[in-house]
Amino acid sequence: MTVRDLDVRYATGAGVVQAVSGVSFDVLPGETLGIVGESGCGKSTTGRAVIRLDRPTGGTIRFDGERIDQAGPRRMRSLRRDMQMVFQDPVASLNPRRRVKDVVAEGLLIGGVPAAERTARATEVLAQVGLDEQRFANVMPRQLSGGQAQRVAIARALALNPKLLICDEPVSALDVSVQAQTLNLIEDIKAAYELTVVFIAHDLSVVRAVSDDVMVMYLGKMCEFGDADLVYARPAHPYTRGLLDSVPLIDSERGFNGPALDGDIPSPLSPPSGCRFRTRCPRAREQCAVSEPQVREVRKDQYVACHFPLDDADPGTDSAGRPPHRPAAAPDR
Ligand code: ADP
Ligand code: MG
Repeated sequence: MTVRDLDVRYATGAGVVQAVSGVSFDVLPGETLGIVGESGCGKSTTGRAVIRLDRPTGGTIRFDGERIDQAGPRRMRSLRRDMQMVFQDPVASLNPRRRVKDVVAEGLLIGGVPAAERTARATEVLAQVGLDEQRFANVMPRQLSGGQAQRVAIARALALNPKLLICDEPVSALDVSVQAQTLNLIEDIKAAYELTVVFIAHDLSVVRAVSDDVMVMYLGKMCEFGDADLVYARPAHPYTRGLLDSVPLIDSERGFNGPALDGDIPSPLSPPSGCRFRTRCPRAREQCAVSEPQVREVRKDQYVACHFPLDDADPGTDSAGRPPHRPAAAPDR
């Protein structure tokens, strides 16, 4: 999938919300792109827009070489089979009046697949997500636990044999004890189906565990994009740095570093001039209010939109002025 200058605006009573502004990225076949950022930064809108569940107001989207941002309803109906989505709230995402076997076969029914084939396929995908058909086929969604419901949602997505899976905070609503199992399941089915995955989460550690590349978003803009190991080991954008510093470090001697991101997120109805992050950025200078930083490559496979990115010589401090708890430069040798 190749996305260029994606723009999504919502007209609301209070004005126009720029939910996503000028976002560009590639997801290579068989790879996982993680999207992270605080709530409201445009992650879900990006995920929905690239498979046309939300209407993009600008930009281009290519999938498998084909431009799909302008594709008509008929073409989209057939493309939808290739592009499936798993949502945060599994129980709410399942039709409460259908039995599990029918929920899973929903897309097949719409696609005109005969009954016997639908049943066989539903049984097969339920087994693949670790749900025994005998026990679960005739159960109603509200009788399922969160983890089981998310397995059903994953089975429903797989039933159509998709190429691309968008996972929007798929484990955020689950008990910690079932989060890891669900992540493992997604990794397993990704390998089995050779899926390309966009994985959205506000939890950085979850994204790191599953992603090849990662995109960090703030107020509808991309701040940083790159190889996940690089971005996590040597963040170049002060916002990425702040997010990493906000993660509780249970295993570290220092313990919890404290919230590194001060202040509130500005309103998306009237984002700050220049760099949108400048009102919370410990490194902001005059230029940041005047001109918007363009995305550029700071290292191989690492891109950043910042006038004053962090580098090895100047890894920055967190907002409390403390030095980084992570080595900004990876200890090479
Ligand atoms: P995230 O998933 O990162 O939390 P979203 O993509 O859901 O963020 O939202 C991005 C911004 O767009 C937020 O300011 C949100 O309030 C706004 N937004 C999302 N959906 C709509 C909508 N249907 N109408 C108006 N504003 C919306
Ligand atoms: Mg969201």
